[in-house]
Amino acid sequence: MNYVPVIGLEIHAELLTKSKLFCSCAAEFGGERNSRCCPGCAAMPGTLPVMNRAAVEYAVLAGFALDCSINKFSVFDRKNYFYPDLPKAYQNSQLALPLCINGLVAIEYESDGVKKSKDIRINRIHLEEDAGKLIHDDLNGVSLADYNRGAIPLIEIVTEPDIGSAEEAKAFVEKIILTLQYAGVCDCKMEQGSLRCDVNISIMKPTDTKLGTRAEIKNLNSIKSIGRAIEHEIYRQSKLLDAGKRVVQETRRFDDNKGETKSMRSKENLDDYRYFPDPDILQVNFTDEDLAEIKSRLPEMPYARLDRYINKFGLSEVEAKIIVNQKRLSDFYEDALRAYHNPKSVCNFITGELMRRINLGEINLEKLPFTASALAKLAEMADNEAVSKNDAKAIFRIMSDEGGAPEEIAKAKGLLITNDTGKVAEVIERVIADNEKAVLQYQGGDMKVFGFLMGQCSKELKGVCTPKVIKEELEKKLKGA
Ligand code: ADP
Ligand code: MG
Ligand code: ZN
Repeated sequence: MNYVPVIGLEIHAELLTKSKLFCSCAAEFGGERNSRCCPGCAAMPGTLPVMNRAAVEYAVLAGFALDCSINKFSVFDRKNYFYPDLPKAYQNSQLALPLCINGLVAIEYESDGVKKSKDIRINRIHLEEDAGKLIHDDLNGVSLADYNRGAIPLIEIVTEPDIGSAEEAKAFVEKIILTLQYAGVCDCKMEQGSLRCDVNISIMKPTDTKLGTRAEIKNLNSIKSIGRAIEHEIYRQSKLLDAGKRVVQETRRFDDNKGETKSMRSKENLDDYRYFPDPDILQVNFTDEDLAEIKSRLPEMPYARLDRYINKFGLSEVEAKIIVNQKRLSDFYEDALRAYHNPKSVCNFITGELMRRINLGEINLEKLPFTASALAKLAEMADNEAVSKNDAKAIFRIMSDEGGAPEEIAKAKGLLITNDTGKVAEVIERVIADNEKAVLQYQGGDMKVFGFLMGQCSKELKGVCTPKVIKEELEKKLKGA
């Protein structure tokens, strides 16, 4: 039996604010346990929250970036649950009046070699706080709590159940990551937990009109495991229905090693959380001017950049995508162009030599050994024939291994082309005089010896001129001789 998968995602993204949602503790990753934790975020009695303005504004920016409508009036609620990762015993979140609603994300992906596209609707984006982290120490039979991450501002992006496959889900999350990174609101490091994804999934028969019962798989922390968890869950639910059994609504966990999902607990109902508006937190009231001002802060988004690279810079779609799909690479490219505005030749170095070395794991995009202006300089030197194309690659290799400025490297290695025309003429004349036999063969129509004569000249003219100049001069002299 064939079923249609129905998938909705809930994505949690930690905002890049300097401080936490209600206090001035630093909102950073890691650090000594409970070192970024004040009486406020440890929920000591008598402390009161003060909302972080930047967090609200970042959430709104994310909303604009994902084509949402922004609610001018927005309220913060208490979502009550009792668990040691949450010292207040409630999480501040938003239920009835979230900051952003009704967004739209267009995804593009390839399925069996065919390009496909689809619009995924966003139901809402609300602002909430992260919980602390529990460390289960099985050896000593204790659980420890680290509240450094507690009360760091998060946005939760909730989609409509518009996603139909693992491929679509992966393309969607990739698009969200890129958009949030460009908007500057989240670094989206899934491996560090600053972006996490819950997958809601059900299956139905193609003729069904009602959605099936869903399972929710919590806290997936890589694109790859999102794909694998979905594939496995479709398989598991299909087998249940094939056997005439029912899918139960529950929360599941994905075991990365086994590639399977496992039941964690039956799903809570909305009622269990006893949501109510938090009387200690001010409601948000935006004016049109406030919202226009926040919107104006949105930097160039990836699709706009892609369009500029293809239509203004003349890059191919493939080249433009390689660069735009990694914000860091794209920012590096922009920096390089500020130093030398030749989009095509700088792009060639980036999509060629640089990407090749990054893909080989020889250099790390996060910690490049040279600056964007150094790469720009190298591209400029190659364009101006200050070094030969081959030597430019050699210089790039040295810059990658040891760092350094391209001019210095070229000088030190004797690769700078001096264009000393006197020297070129002198060497060519001498080679012609010393190789009478070869010259006669050439003049007699034996073109093969040209390579030999060229080689003789090149040996002595390395760093004086390009092979192109040697070839032209040598041909001229041989015809005239
Ligand atoms: P909850 O808050 O209980 O998790 P929501 O109604 O907010 O439930 O939905 C959470 C996510 O689950 C949304 O992304 C939604 O699109 C998705 N979803 C809802 N019903 C289904 C279903 N039957 N199958 C798959 N996904 C669903
Ligand atoms: Mg949920
Ligand atoms: Zn604090």
